[in-house]
Amino acid sequence: MSLPPCPICNSEYVYQDQSLMICPECAHEWSTLENLDEEELFSVKDSNGALLSVGDKVTMIKDLKIKASSQVIKVGTKASIRRIVEGKDHQLDCKVSGAGEMMITAKFVKKV
Ligand SMILES: [Zn+2]
Repeated sequence: MSLPPCPICNSEYVYQDQSLMICPECAHEWSTLENLDEEELFSVKDSNGALLSVGDKVTMIKDLKIKASSQVIKVGTKASIRRIVEGKDHQLDCKVSGAGEMMITAKFVKKV
């Protein structure tokens, strides 16, 4: 896991001491607790705009080609959400029926 660069001097040599981030170059210290709050606030929505949460069952609304493979997840394939991450796409860490675990973009699924 890599730490974010220092917000003051942009140093990459930031290290973490419990909930504090410390920059050795400019001695700036800041808390990571705010970031944790943000993680709880972000929301990921499916193709219909329904809020998705861990444990939800979803189905694919279109055929999804799996990167670096000839495999395709067919429309209607069921999956369950194991983890949700923030991002523009591939927000859903899903267990996909017949295909295993993979990251899927929220707008390509529909909550069941
Ligand atoms: Zn710094």
